[in-house]
Amino acid sequence: MPDNPGLWCQEGWTRFRHGDFACTVVSDGLLEMGPARDNFPNAEPADVDALLTGHHLEPERVRLDQNLLVVDTPDGRVLFDTGVGTVPELGVATFGAQTGKAVANLEAAGIDPASIDVVAITHAHPDHCWGLVDADGKPLYPNARIIVSEVEYRHWTDLSKVDSAPNQHLRDHYTGADLNLNAYAGRLTLIGDGDEVVPGITAIATPGHSPGHVVYRITSGGRTMICWGDLCHHYVLLLRRPDWGFRFDYDKAAATAQRRRIYDLVEAERHAVFAYHFPFPGLGHLRRDGEGYAWLPAQPEPE
Ligand SMILES: [Zn+2]
Repeated sequence: MPDNPGLWCQEGWTRFRHGDFACTVVSDGLLEMGPARDNFPNAEPADVDALLTGHHLEPERVRLDQNLLVVDTPDGRVLFDTGVGTVPELGVATFGAQTGKAVANLEAAGIDPASIDVVAITHAHPDHCWGLVDADGKPLYPNARIIVSEVEYRHWTDLSKVDSAPNQHLRDHYTGADLNLNAYAGRLTLIGDGDEVVPGITAIATPGHSPGHVVYRITSGGRTMICWGDLCHHYVLLLRRPDWGFRFDYDKAAATAQRRRIYDLVEAERHAVFAYHFPFPGLGHLRRDGEGYAWLPAQPEPE
C-alpha cells in the first residue's frame, strides 16, 4: 500500500454551507480495516463479501475515511471529533501512517487549532478522541472546551478497568481516553441526551456502539444535519443491513436499535447526515431500500 493520503482526498478538506453555518470537512486520513467478513454476528461471511462485491468494493480491503467537521456558528467554532492523533505509542502507531493528518489538514484549510472554541466528541474511541493532544500529551486546541457525554467520560477514563481489559488494544482505549480528555481538566463539559453544545446544536444519546455514544443534531436556517460518529461505520455494510449487528459494539442489541432509530428519523425528517467514516466528505442522505437504507451522497452547497 503506497503511503499516499492524497489518493482519493486530494486537498484533505472541503467547505460547504449548512443554513447559516459555514462548515469545513477535514480528513484525518484513511483507516485500513482489512477484511470485514467476520465482524457481523448475524451475517454469513460469504454474504458480507457478496454485499461488498455487489457495490464494487474489495472484500479483502475495507477502508474507512475519517471526516472531521468544523462548524462556524455565531456562537463559536465547533469541531466534531479529532482523529487518531500523533502520540507516538498510540495514534499512528496503532492505525498506520495514512492517519494522523487532522491538524495538517485543518491548517491547510486555513483553520488555526487555537481558533476552535468547542470540541464536541461523539464517543471516546481512539479514532475520535485521541487527536485532542499533541505528541507530548499537551492540548492541541488551547482555547477549546471539550464536550463529551458524561457516561462516556466516566466509562473510558476509569483506569481501574485497565488491568482487567482483555487485550492491549482495549487497555490503550482507556489510557488514551484518559490522556486526551483529562488534558483538558477544568474545561470539560459533561453532557447528556438533549443538551445544547451551542445554539442550534444539541446532543442525542445513542448508547450502544460505546456506552455513552451521542450523535449531534445541527440545525440552521431550517436545515438539520445529524453528525453521527460511529452510529454507522460503512456506507454499505450496516446501512444496507442494520440487522447484521457489529462485533465491536459495546452493547450489540442497543447499538442496532439506535441505528434503526436514527436511520428512521433521518429519512422521515429528510435530514442530512454527516458520517465520520463514509467516503469523503461524508455528507449525504438516506433512502429506505430493502432491509435497510441506501446512501445518497450529497452535492454540498458551496460556501
Ligand atoms: Zn470510529
